Amino acid sequence: MASIIGAGPVGNYLAGKLAKNGLKVEVYEEHKKIGEPIACTGILTSYLGDFMKVNEDYVINKVNQTNVYSPNGNFVNIKLKKNYIVNRDLFDRHLAEDAKSNGAKYNLGFRFNSLKNKSMKFDNGEIRKDDCIIGADGPKSLVGRSAGIFGERKFVVGHQARVRLKNKTDPDIVEFFLDEGNYIGWSVPEDEKTVRLGVASHKGVKNHFEILMKKRPGKILNWQSGPIPVYNPSLKYESDGVYLIGDAATQVKATTYGGIIPGMHAADLLAKVITNETEGGYQKGLWKATGRHLWMHLMIRKVMNRFRKEDYNELIRLCEKNSVRDTIYEYDREYPLRLLFALGLKQPNFFKFSKCLLRNEI
Ligand SMILES: Cc1cc2nc3c(=O)[nH]c(=O)nc-3n(C[C@H](O)[C@H](O)[C@H](O)COP(=O)(O)OP(=O)(O)OC[C@H]3O[C@@H](n4cnc5c(N)ncnc54)[C@H](O)[C@@H]3O)c2cc1C
Repeated sequence: MASIIGAGPVGNYLAGKLAKNGLKVEVYEEHKKIGEPIACTGILTSYLGDFMKVNEDYVINKVNQTNVYSPNGNFVNIKLKKNYIVNRDLFDRHLAEDAKSNGAKYNLGFRFNSLKNKSMKFDNGEIRKDDCIIGADGPKSLVGRSAGIFGERKFVVGHQARVRLKNKTDPDIVEFFLDEGNYIGWSVPEDEKTVRLGVASHKGVKNHFEILMKKRPGKILNWQSGPIPVYNPSLKYESDGVYLIGDAATQVKATTYGGIIPGMHAADLLAKVITNETEGGYQKGLWKATGRHLWMHLMIRKVMNRFRKEDYNELIRLCEKNSVRDTIYEYDREYPLRLLFALGLKQPNFFKFSKCLLRNEI
């Protein structure tokens, strides 16, 4: 039997995998409804199709281009393999329904409180025992704290609003805005009038958001904000039958702060470990499954955190070359090891940015 704390996308996906393998699975979620509240832009690369059948029930738009802006307002247009824009509430529920149809049992309104001798205590007074407990309970993971494997973590804040735009936008294009100070901004279209406009940074998100709003004015429909963990490769992800996964394990790309696909990658591995389909264990296997890619995202982030405005301007200028744009299309941002290797061959000038590592973080 396996107990999963947290019915977010990663917990639900793992529940489905384990249940399909015939394991008895219990999922515990603090909220009464799966998929709410939402704090996510819901943009997923074409690799989503490697994990599940992509379903029109939760995909509300597809984009195939990106405009990436430098601080001086210049931008480069790059073709993308199809990226999916999903509604997170529908996406999470779809995954949960799949898990349920394979036999997983859901316990809603169960807030995990603490863990002692394999016994899980919940805020509603219930106590359940299990030898296999999975913390899929998000960035502030109480399971991780209770099992003594929360470790050292850093967070950035994601601050986003759904905005009804004053002017129409192209629904095929997702926009990214780069600037110094551990910052990324985005405008992700739901359709030609509504976008998910957001920023992520370790400081000043409200100020950053106001500046972005001036570039894409409109009426705010609702707010969605939340902490995003910065990947920490030296965390302990398991201890005595307790495993951490997804945001609970900081499995988030430090460049774009997307965590759903890396979490699903880790879930594929963990499902195999729990059902004894693979040898070597979770902690060890993670590096190959997803850790090396997350580490590369982190290294790129460390360089970018030292970028000055002029470095971003130069980066966008380099990306204007057709050979570079073709390479980004070919290799995609999900797996940056392959992308950087290919880019380095085409345009060795990219490596000059590594000298920024000698500077202090901005
Ligand atoms: C503004 C913003 C935009 C983002 N945009 C994207 C994006 O476009 N693409 C992308 O891939 N990622 C994005 N992310 C990151 C993405 O949201 C996370 O990586 C993803 O949700 C991680 O899934 P998870 O299942 O690990 O955790 P979560 O989604 O955090 O789910 C954890 C679940 O556990 C439950 N829970 C927590 N504590 C307890 C407890 N004590 N007891 C019981 N249940 C508990 C929660 O209610 C929740 O349902 C964004 C994040 C933010 C903040």
